[in-house]
Amino acid sequence: MIKLPIEINAVKGFLHPEEGEILYRSCLEIASLGPALEVGSYCGKSTIYLGLACLENNNTLYAIDHHRGSEEHQPGEGYHDKELFDVKRNQMDSFSEFRKNIEMAGLSDTVIPIVSSSEAVARNWVGPLGMVFIDGGHSMEAALKDYRSWSCHLRKGGFLAIHDIFLDPSEGGQAPHEIMKLALSSGLFVEIRRVRTLVVLERI
Ligand code: MG
Repeated sequence: MIKLPIEINAVKGFLHPEEGEILYRSCLEIASLGPALEVGSYCGKSTIYLGLACLENNNTLYAIDHHRGSEEHQPGEGYHDKELFDVKRNQMDSFSEFRKNIEMAGLSDTVIPIVSSSEAVARNWVGPLGMVFIDGGHSMEAALKDYRSWSCHLRKGGFLAIHDIFLDPSEGGQAPHEIMKLALSSGLFVEIRRVRTLVVLERI
C-alpha cells in the first residue's frame, strides 16, 4: 500500500483509493519513458497519486485543468460543490483548493499545474509522454478531443489511463468507455489493468 503524506479522504474528488493505487503503481513503471500528464485535476486527488510516483522517480506531472468545473460541477448539476464556487465572479474555481492540496502533499516541485483547457495546451505540445490520464469533461466531444489530443504523444510502452468507464450505460455516461474502445480498436493499445471504473491501456 502506498503511504500518503496527507489525509486523502479529505481531498474532494471522485477517485476510489483502489483506483488511486493503480494510478500510482502504473506511473512508477513509466518513469524512464517520460513525464506524465493528466487532464482533469479538479482538487488534486488523482494528481497526488500520480505526483507521488513522479516524486519517487524524479519525474514530472503536468496537471491540466481550467478549474472552472466540468458540466456536472456547475450550479444546479449533480456534482456541484458550493465551497468551490466563487460567488463574486459567479463561476467555479477549484484552483486554490487544488494548489493547497498539492502543497500539503509536498508536490509543488513535481506537479506543474496548467490552468487551461486541454485543447489549448495540446495545440503546440511537442514532448513525448510516459503516461496520460484522461479524466476531463465527460461529454462525447470533450472526451474525444482529449483522446485525440494526447494519446498521440505517448511513447511505446507508455500508459493511457481513463477514468469513469461504465460498461453498463445505466451506471454512467459512455464517453470515457467510447474512447477506450476507440483506443483498443486502433490496434495501438492493449488493456493491461482495470479496477472499478479505471482502465489502464499500454501503447504498444
Ligand atoms: Mg473521474
